[in-house]
Amino acid sequence: MMTTFSIKDGILQGATQIASTNFNQRPENTDIRLVVVHNISLPPSQFGGGYIQQFFQNQLDWNAHPYFQTIQGMQVSAHLLILRSGEVIQFVNFNDRAWHAGRSSYLGQVECNDYSIGIELEGSDDLPFEAVQYQQLSQVILAIESAYPKTRQHLAGHSDIAPGRKTDPGDFFQWQTLRQLIFSQRMTK
Ligand SMILES: [Zn+2]
Repeated sequence: MMTTFSIKDGILQGATQIASTNFNQRPENTDIRLVVVHNISLPPSQFGGGYIQQFFQNQLDWNAHPYFQTIQGMQVSAHLLILRSGEVIQFVNFNDRAWHAGRSSYLGQVECNDYSIGIELEGSDDLPFEAVQYQQLSQVILAIESAYPKTRQHLAGHSDIAPGRKTDPGDFFQWQTLRQLIFSQRMTK
């Protein structure tokens, strides 16, 4: 699977749309200028099941797994989730402020949620990601770059903007693979 994406009015064409209420407005006149890569799996290191989607919609049954009780009541979201299959799901319009980064700072600018786009890969710190996830992520980033040109060259992991607090996307995430895919596809555009 390799999808070509485009963005219209903050909506990623080519993605599945599932609405999350976990967002608010970005501060006025904020330029979107950073893409943050994360990983998530629920329960940790287990894939499938639809629990991430339920979590971002505040519909997760906290009793379905002991781990879920440790995140009970948390209200979070990301703009996008890329499943192991490569399916891309959008939860929050890019022009709105998703709740993915928490306390964070990039190049001296705090509160990354204000000015970033958050992309979760279904994955964990202790397992490799799927090739199709890198392909889809690179295609999505190219679409984001063309809609929000200030994001170009500003790509970070959650661990980069919240060091000591967050470890994702983790040591298995291959930045080099991602950068090569982005670069080679920029050349063919
Ligand atoms: Zn994260």
